Amino acid sequence: MEYLSDRIKSLSVSQTLAMAQKSRDMKEQGIDVINLSIGEPDFNTPDDIKEAAKKAIDDNYTHYPPVPGYADLRKAISDKFRRENDLDYSPEQVIVSAGGKHSIINVVLSLVNPGEEVIIIAPYWVSYYDQIILAGGKPVVLKTSIDNNFKLTSEELEAAITSKTRLIIFNSPSNPTGMVYTRDEMESLARVIEKHEGLFLISDEIYEHITFSGKHESMASFDYIYDRVITVNGVSKGYAMTGWRIGYIGAPLWLAKAVNKLQGQFTSGVSSISQRAALAAIESTGDSRKIMRDAFLKRRDLICGLLKDFDGFKIRVPEGAFYVFPDVSEYFGKTDGDHRINDSTDLAMYILEKAHVAVVGGAGFGAPDCLRLSYAASEEELIEACRRMKAALAKLV
Ligand code: PLP
Repeated sequence: MEYLSDRIKSLSVSQTLAMAQKSRDMKEQGIDVINLSIGEPDFNTPDDIKEAAKKAIDDNYTHYPPVPGYADLRKAISDKFRRENDLDYSPEQVIVSAGGKHSIINVVLSLVNPGEEVIIIAPYWVSYYDQIILAGGKPVVLKTSIDNNFKLTSEELEAAITSKTRLIIFNSPSNPTGMVYTRDEMESLARVIEKHEGLFLISDEIYEHITFSGKHESMASFDYIYDRVITVNGVSKGYAMTGWRIGYIGAPLWLAKAVNKLQGQFTSGVSSISQRAALAAIESTGDSRKIMRDAFLKRRDLICGLLKDFDGFKIRVPEGAFYVFPDVSEYFGKTDGDHRINDSTDLAMYILEKAHVAVVGGAGFGAPDCLRLSYAASEEELIEACRRMKAALAKLV
């Protein structure tokens, strides 16, 4: 322990993974836990994609793949960017990595010097904060409130930029809030970035295909900041492929080359079989993506309808991803006689122990007043989870 590097000691354990582990432990003890803590679709990968992976093995895609990804996959991603996002990234500007998470840290490590500031918008996805720390950067957390639909305004962004700000990480649709910025809201942020030379933006668009509020918008589509935007995406969420570990970026060419260099010394190219599966996903003409998205919409309406009856939950109806993020601060200070609820971590633990439903406290997302519930679960599970939670919460006075 004493010999561990300062770097690793400064990292925290992902709260979402910790909660998932606790609920797995309870399940192993025979307790019927409903897990609403995880960040992945409950669907299996569509059959045509699985077939492509099986074929890849038979076709001997078993050797080292190129570091930035197979040429045909990078070309397919470049075509996808043009077709679906109206973005012009040549295949050379595309780098394939081991999931969106890997894509993001690659960019952070390639751009941020020790001591430089990286702006993240709370509530934020858990890993941004620690990835910045890992790179030696300084996370600058800008808080948003449920009253403004958890969105950052251009004034708030402008006020936070200093001569040391190198990067902003932007995420829409958002994990954990499910909020989606409108094009006008994005444009007002883009205009601020335009004014600051040497300021870059990662646009994390991993939930692009799970959106209920119309067409997905990309930050790189504002041409005056295109040269300073890195678009991150992947197949994990939209194609139910979390286990395959494929993410990718579209980036300025010089940065794509830097990421390629980093990856060449670190991970090498991503699993050859997964790359062939991702190619099949991105080129697929089937409707599995739409079927999953429609199922998420139905479940969103179901869970939001049920949560509306919870006295202490203040919610915004999410417009994308598969999370609801209620403000639960009304419960703070209450007790069932045994447990006193001081914060949302206590409340998540209370719900797990008393209702046998796993949810995640908001502290790890930079929003300690909130809870994250994932509705990537069956309708029956959602109904039962809400019934149990309501009964347990009613005991808090
Ligand atoms: N970005 C956000 C906002 C996420 O929620 C996730 C996964 O939970 C990722 C990136 C990483 O995705 P991947 O599983 O492809 O690494």
